[in-house]
Amino acid sequence: VSAAAVAIGAVTLSGSLVAAGKLQGRLASRSRVLRHHPAAMAVHLLAAAALIAAAPVAGERTAVVAAALAAVGLAGGVLFAMRIGGADMPVAISLLNSLSGLAAAVAGFAVADLLLVAVGAIVGAAGLILTQIMCRAMNRSLPQILSGLSPAAPGAAPAAPPAAPPSEPAEGDETARIREALAEARSVIIIPGYGMALAQAQEAVKALADGLERRGKEVAFAIHPVAGRMPGHMNVLLAEVDVPYDKLLDLDAANARLGATDLAIVVGANDVINPAARTAEGTPIYGMPVLSAADARRLIICNRDRQCGYAGVPNPLYDRRDVLLLIGDARASLATLLDLLDGPVSGASGTAC
Ligand code: NDP
Repeated sequence: VSAAAVAIGAVTLSGSLVAAGKLQGRLASRSRVLRHHPAAMAVHLLAAAALIAAAPVAGERTAVVAAALAAVGLAGGVLFAMRIGGADMPVAISLLNSLSGLAAAVAGFAVADLLLVAVGAIVGAAGLILTQIMCRAMNRSLPQILSGLSPAAPGAAPAAPPAAPPSEPAEGDETARIREALAEARSVIIIPGYGMALAQAQEAVKALADGLERRGKEVAFAIHPVAGRMPGHMNVLLAEVDVPYDKLLDLDAANARLGATDLAIVVGANDVINPAARTAEGTPIYGMPVLSAADARRLIICNRDRQCGYAGVPNPLYDRRDVLLLIGDARASLATLLDLLDGPVSGASGTAC
């Protein structure tokens, strides 16, 4: 049992180091798959099983077996983590977290410590549940993620979703329409995504929310469970700038409210609002629950460009003429929105299009 704890602990350690390296940009974040990757992993697994079986009868060589197991486990952890792409790394980290709990539980058995067994089991189970939740919210299976299959990888090429019919003719100047939308809205839902994190625009989002509230508008935030690149990414960024927790709506609560909301403002979010998830069969996001941003009476999208999001699926909202686009860096677009709230825009940097 101790031998199994050594092996699992070693896999967790080296896997976590590779994951940390990828997330900090010290290692290339893309998935790296060796030519005989599955075979190499199978060999490591068999070697670990053989060493674990040999441990009880190793006698004086127990230390050698333990060292060999640690080496095999460390190499196995590297093989495990290297083929997971950077954006999928949070799922891998959650799984590694679960493994660390398992290692502790197994060690607890070895030293006959029930408390260690219980604590390890709780950590292991919590990690597994979180892993499952994240996979479901991303509409991807764990084997897909662990095999390094990127959602936009060749073979998973997205079918173009049907273009949404323009539901309102474009009229007048876009900037004037945005100003009007801001002025007329009594309820506003802000939908942040990974682009907000990239632009470090959380302060600007808070400033806009405060500005709207000062004008008597009701403001809430819709948080998709996988918005951003790690669990709770948006919650953490918004908490950092003191957005009250009771203003954050989860997916279901937000979708229930969006239909009765005057204005939705998307800040650097794409996949999590992509209606193609409901219609574009065969695409990586098909079936993924999304925020119904377009249900709001008016929709402003502040994204950097009209490119696809993380999953590589075109977003038909960009083609709708009733959707107001502010293309450019989210911070500049939010400054433009604040200016438009106050009056005429001075030196707006987001480009209305
Ligand atoms: P997306 O990556 O789908 O979209 C982000 C959008 O923000 C893109 O349109 C991007 O444009 C834009 N953007 C980037 N930088 C800026 C900027 N400086 N200013 C304004 N816009 C910018 O993010 P979402 O949050 O919508 O969705 C998250 C995706 O990540 C989902 O597919 C999810 O499954 C996946 N994921 C989530 C994890 C989690 O735990 N939360 C873990 C792993 C993956 P551009 O095209 O130019 O970059």
